[in-house]
Formats: sequence, structure tokens, C-alpha cells
Amino acid sequence: MPTHVRVAIIGSGFAGLGMAIQLARHGIDDFVIVERGSEVGGTWRDNTYPGAACDIRSDLYSFSFAPRHDWKHRYGRQAEILDYLRSTADRFGIRPRIRFDTELMEATWDAVAAFWRLHTSTGELTASVLVSAAGPLIDPVWPQIPGLEQFEGLRFHSSRWRHDLDLADLRVAVIGTGRSAWTVGSTSRAANGLQPIRTPSGTPTTTASRKPWPTRCAENSTLDSHVPL
Ligand SMILES: Cc1cc2nc3c(=O)[nH]c(=O)nc-3n(C[C@H](O)[C@H](O)[C@H](O)COP(=O)(O)OP(=O)(O)OC[C@H]3O[C@@H](n4cnc5c(N)ncnc54)[C@H](O)[C@@H]3O)c2cc1C
Repeated sequence: MPTHVRVAIIGSGFAGLGMAIQLARHGIDDFVIVERGSEVGGTWRDNTYPGAACDIRSDLYSFSFAPRHDWKHRYGRQAEILDYLRSTADRFGIRPRIRFDTELMEATWDAVAAFWRLHTSTGELTASVLVSAAGPLIDPVWPQIPGLEQFEGLRFHSSRWRHDLDLADLRVAVIGTGRSAWTVGSTSRAANGLQPIRTPSGTPTTTASRKPWPTRCAENSTLDSHVPL
């Protein structure tokens, strides 16, 4: 790996991969992605909770330069979206340019040398251009609830799902009323027969259901494959 690059990109989620692929497609190969995880995918690598899926049709929630016409679901499930991101990174030869397990700790602009000095967990790097694709939702956020630290039950964040736990006979409270909370609640209840799940706030912010589309869509396989978006 070079110690100086023209472009350094933070993150290999949708944004970082999209940036890298577009650079490569425009003939700019002098770039590197710094990724603290061990795999591409960002949000879709980390959010593996039951029912995790996108809320936008998958044929729209994908790169315009890499359409997929055989999505299994109208709203792609986490595993399928992660597979899409992995295979797209491979298809465009991006993986060798990613420094996995490398966290950007500090970035300083050197005005004299006119480049960024990047201090990462695996070494130093300089770059003329620094692009942040570090993502808005990647770090778990816990609310400031008095007594939370003293709670003696099991506690985990939806983006760090405990697949080793069987929730079937437990009483579960979900904090939050957004899409993830709603999905976890409805999916877990249906799958495991859980006790009613309560949320501290009243009205869910998102309750619209995703219309099921369990099979390949005729629009996908015919119209979209002939008319790129
Ligand atoms: C269940 C779920 C459903 C969603 N559905 C939709 C939807 O329908 N439509 C929509 O538009 N959005 C949706 N989102 C939001 C989704 O997060 C974004 O669409 C998109 O995936 C964000 O991509 P990103 O590349 O910007 O960031 P991320 O996917 O978060 O990627 C950021 C990457 O940067 C890396 N990183 C961060 N900091 C550092 C550092 N200091 N050093 C090195 N690496 C670092 C992280 O490890 C990560 O890999 C959904 C999210 C979830 C969880």
C-alpha cells in the first residue's frame, strides 16, 4: 500500500464504495479506502437484526452504474444488500485498495506541503484529497436514561444484535419507535412469540409496512433491465 495517495476515502459503505468506483471509472486509480471494519458494507455489514431491510425499493436503493435485476425482495434484506455491496466491490476491483481493520484517528491539513496527514490505527498516510464517507448511523447510540447503567438485565443495541440469545421466553422492551425498533418488535414477536414489546414513547414514528414482494418482480426483470435508471 502506498504512503501517499491522491484521494483517501474514509469508509467502505455505500458512499465510500460509490466514490471509489466512480474514481476508478474515471481513470483515477491513485486512491485508498480506510475502513475500520473487516469487510465492506458499513451499515449493512453491522445491522443484522431480525427483519433488517431497506425502506426504498432495492432497484432504486442501488448504484445506477451497477443495477441488479434479480432482487429477491422488493425491499432488499440485509444479507442481500450486503452481498450486493460485496460483489460490486469485487466486480469493480475495489477490494485491493481498501485498508481493512484500519481506523482513521486524526486528520491534519499540512498547509505547507498541501496535503492531509492521516494518522490511522495501522500507520501514517498522506493524501491530497480526503473524502469522508464515514456514515451517519454507524455508531450505536444509547439514550441518556437515568438508571440505565444499573439495569441488570440483558441489554444490547439493534445494530449489534446478539444472535447467540434466544429471546423467545424473555420480556423485551425496545427503546425507540423508528423503523429499526418497529421491525425488531414485529419480526421478533412473529418469529418467537414474545411478550408484548413496549416502548417508552407513545406513537411510532414509522409504521408503514413494506409491501411484500417475495419473488422477482416483472418490472425488474423486464423494464429495468432494458431501461437503466
Ligand atoms: C436497517 C436499515 C435500513 C435502512 N434503509 C434505508 C433506506 O431504505 N434508504 C436509505 O436511504 N437509507 C437507509 N438506511 C440508512 C443507511 O445507513 C444509508 O442508506 C447508507 O447505507 C449509509 O451508507 P454510508 O456509506 O454513508 O455509511 P455507512 O454504511 O455507515 O458506512 C460508513 C463506513 O465508514 C467506516 N468508518 C466510520 N468511521 C471510520 C473511521 N474513523 N475510520 C475508518 N473507517 C470508518 C465504518 O466502519 C463503515 O464501514 C438504512 C439503515 C439501516 C440500518
